[in-house]
Amino acid sequence: MTALRRNAVFLLACLLLVPKAYAWGPDGHRIVAELAQRHLSPAAEAQVERLLAPEHTGRLADVATWADDVQDDPSQQALWKATRAMHYINFANRDCDYQPPRDCRQGRCVVAGLQHYVAVLGDRNQSDAARREALKFVVHLVGDVHQPLHAGYRPDKGGNTYQVQFQGKGSNLHRVWDSGMLRTRGLDWQHYAQKLDARPMVALPPDGGTPFVAWAEESCRMTRDLYPDGHTVGASYLEAELPLAEQRLRQAGRRLAQLLNRTLG
Ligand SMILES: [Zn+2]
Repeated sequence: MTALRRNAVFLLACLLLVPKAYAWGPDGHRIVAELAQRHLSPAAEAQVERLLAPEHTGRLADVATWADDVQDDPSQQALWKATRAMHYINFANRDCDYQPPRDCRQGRCVVAGLQHYVAVLGDRNQSDAARREALKFVVHLVGDVHQPLHAGYRPDKGGNTYQVQFQGKGSNLHRVWDSGMLRTRGLDWQHYAQKLDARPMVALPPDGGTPFVAWAEESCRMTRDLYPDGHTVGASYLEAELPLAEQRLRQAGRRLAQLLNRTLG
């Protein structure tokens, strides 16, 4: 490899390490996927293995960040453009009352994204390639909709414009929830998932028969209480809110397993 090429590869690697604010960070998504994997039915697990075989894995965690990763793939820009708004929903206000089309213009929100990709995944008439892509989106979007600030308020873009001080540095509330708080545990995602899975089974609020809407509204209602006093995220904030973030990961994992067991079983 020439020096020039080495430099180019190095630069590219640096670019890929720039954190993006579109989702739980990679660890959050992998944890949700791993929690779900541990509770798949044998039938659903066999389908997951079959669909993911061309990707040389049978593990949901290996494909959990793909829906974010496409933004860095020059050949996937059309897909990214069409789907980037499916990673979140911005509610009009603190009522957290889902009203399409106001809250989901032209089906560009996480609720509509889940409706679409779950339908494709469950449709045996679709090609395996289409269902494989749908599976990767479902794994990712179930995670995103459980990050409370992925279903926050439009005026501050789900906390993205709410600046905070965190660990002595400037950040924003959305990013702290995506990855900053989880990182304070100092665990890799495998151990984090193991630890969360060892706890007693997490309770799931009723969904009223419209699960994706209910999950988004739940997240939105949680955001009411997670703005820190002042603009500093310190130890007392972590003590209060990190357990909530972990509860959301566990609920997402349990619901993802149920959804895949129903859709693929
Ligand atoms: Zn995302």
